[in-house]
Amino acid sequence: MQALRYARASSVDEAVKMLSDGGPTARVLAGGTDIIVMARERRRTVELFVDVKHIEELMQLTYDARGLTVGAATPLHIIYNDANVLQHFPALAEAAHVIGGTAIQGRASLGGNLANSGPAGDSIPAQMAIGGVATVAGPSGRREVPITEFCTGPGQNVLQPGELIVSMHYPQPPAHSGQAWERFIPRNEMDIAVCNSASYIVLDGDVVTEARFALGAVAAKVLMVPDATAAVVGKRLTDETIAAAGEAAKATATPIDDMRGSIKQRKHLAKVLTERTLRRAAERARA
Ligand SMILES: Cc1cc2nc3c(=O)[nH]c(=O)nc-3n(C[C@H](O)[C@H](O)[C@H](O)COP(=O)(O)OP(=O)(O)OC[C@H]3O[C@@H](n4cnc5c(N)ncnc54)[C@H](O)[C@@H]3O)c2cc1C
Repeated sequence: MQALRYARASSVDEAVKMLSDGGPTARVLAGGTDIIVMARERRRTVELFVDVKHIEELMQLTYDARGLTVGAATPLHIIYNDANVLQHFPALAEAAHVIGGTAIQGRASLGGNLANSGPAGDSIPAQMAIGGVATVAGPSGRREVPITEFCTGPGQNVLQPGELIVSMHYPQPPAHSGQAWERFIPRNEMDIAVCNSASYIVLDGDVVTEARFALGAVAAKVLMVPDATAAVVGKRLTDETIAAAGEAAKATATPIDDMRGSIKQRKHLAKVLTERTLRRAAERARA
């Protein structure tokens, strides 16, 4: 472990100041389930941890007619146990529910999963497909970043020096919409996804009026799949259109071979998981 300092921020402004004064080796500490491991293994140089778990705005979950706002450091168990999340944002609940195990979920946050910006980060496809927007605070004030534009590469994102994520907002899904998230891992739990997928659709009868698809672990960052959107919007949702969305996902995926899965397997999974999440999203839209 590196020698480091710890500071507890009690407001967003204070956290921004601590991060700005601390320079590039100052890091936000939320649940610590990624960053403490990385610091211990010296994969990240950390001289100052800025603990944000005592800032009320980062630990709140609010739901109203406009949608759901989740404080960036809110632990996962609060999220997936919330009745409004379960009813209106099931894709988010599904992803939050499988990150790590119970102990991890008591500390880990959606903001940490997003800021870690791993290509396989489990919540990121769900946060992107359901139209999430992150509120970021920094030395020049606050700004909003669509989550589809947040990650820029493996472990890289749009955060500038001194900035942190305050919260993520997910707009209220309209009537006759549905969403679903799923992943494939070699074991039953506690592993990194070989592929993960989220689908979001809005139906008018049998016709798809809106659709968004996201895929993780098949490229350097989580991907949206616009070709799958084009394959279903304006069409009746049939076995053929679902298969076309799956083929589009397979074609969009540009995975690598590694110890968890081959290129062929990951491309196949991109298709299978997109079809499955789309079918489940459609069931929910019709319910
Ligand atoms: C045993 C184990 C199992 C795991 N299983 C999974 C899994 O199944 N799926 C998965 O996706 N991940 C998994 N992870 C990784 C990790 O638990 C998740 O990525 C988690 O969501 C990170 O959240 P955190 O609050 O702990 O982040 P932290 O570790 O506190 O932070 C992660 C990174 O984000 C930055 N950060 C945190 N919050 C903010 C913020 N508000 N603003 C700006 N930057 C911020 C930190 O500085 C750090 O760089 C696992 C980890 C462990 C140890």
